[in-house]
Amino acid sequence: MKCQSLNEFGGALIAEDRPDLSVSGSEVVLRVTANGVCHSDLHIQEGCYNLGGGQKLSFADRGMKLPLVMGHEPVGMVVAAGDEAGELDASKNYVVYPWQGCGDCHQCKDGRENYCVAPRYVGMHIDGGYADHLKIPHPRYLFDIGTMAPEIAAPLACSGLTTYSALKKVEDTLKKAPVVIIGVGGLGLMAVGLVKAMGGLPPVVVDLDPVKREAALKAGAQAAIDGAATDAVAQVQKAVGGTGVLATIDLVGAESTASLAFDAIAKGGKMVIVGLFGGSAPWALPFIPVKAVTIMGSYVGSLAEFAELMDLAHKGLVPALPTKTYPLDSANDILHQLEQGRVVGRAVLTP
Ligand code: NAD
Ligand code: ZN
Repeated sequence: MKCQSLNEFGGALIAEDRPDLSVSGSEVVLRVTANGVCHSDLHIQEGCYNLGGGQKLSFADRGMKLPLVMGHEPVGMVVAAGDEAGELDASKNYVVYPWQGCGDCHQCKDGRENYCVAPRYVGMHIDGGYADHLKIPHPRYLFDIGTMAPEIAAPLACSGLTTYSALKKVEDTLKKAPVVIIGVGGLGLMAVGLVKAMGGLPPVVVDLDPVKREAALKAGAQAAIDGAATDAVAQVQKAVGGTGVLATIDLVGAESTASLAFDAIAKGGKMVIVGLFGGSAPWALPFIPVKAVTIMGSYVGSLAEFAELMDLAHKGLVPALPTKTYPLDSANDILHQLEQGRVVGRAVLTP
């Protein structure tokens, strides 16, 4: 099999030819037809999160092993399955739920594999979709994509699921006030479409890049604000109007965006932090109780949430994220473009 392998943190991906994958038990091998390139892959390649104050969280210290084939937004067709895998249709494309857990911890037993204490996430702990073939441990992680194109279905596995799960955490506000979405890259543009699918008011978005703001307006945002404007907070509040800002979804997760969300939010509001750009919390503690604000994190989504999202997608309710497709061997170039902010929507590798 051909793959793009991360062999050292901070290094470029290396094209490798490896022995074909074999299966046993419930395992399934897919021929990869599409794999979205997520900004999280840049963090993985770098090998750390920025914790602020000069501190870093090293993935190597946390047990991430190299070499690794990244890629956690894979779609593929079944080419081999173990004798316990059951019936699978080799003519169909399946999107993979990548947030797989150990199956034994209390989180997994409660249906939250995405919070597993010993995770086996595809493209982070086990080899992912920057390859022409991929092995998963069990067919329960496969979802038929129906009539969707592979490059449209692939981003649902992370971009779609992550923003769906984050929006669900503030679902009670979506019809009362426009939700504020900060960062309208791959995740943010998907979120704009999902707000519509969930029956919410058109969102207000914030981004530094005018090209991304324009794309968000085209996708249905009611206003798009430059996060670098000195009066960005006032502009956000004005765009939201009457009720004040009841919910923010921060898909950047930097000190500046956390400040903006906190300053803009109304009393009793909810801030969901998703982005992993990094830094440390910028809020003065007394304002948290005084504003009675809820600050919460959201990490990808559960298998049950993915089933809900796929239901919405099959009903045609999830607008397609703008995507462009590229061959597998352009992975390094695409990661570079993403880092420079030159990707609108999602770049998808089609091995
Ligand atoms: P992306 O590169 O496609 O988009 C990022 C967007 O943020 C761009 O449009 C950029 O212009 C904008 N931006 C950057 N800095 C900004 C700032 N200070 N103010 C306003 N806008 C700013 O990235 P993506 O794939 O959408 O991922 C976004 C983040 O979410 C990454 O850190 C990624 O690792 C993280 N992520 C988290 C989860 C999770 O479950 N928590 C899941 C997937 C991705
Ligand atoms: Zn991702």
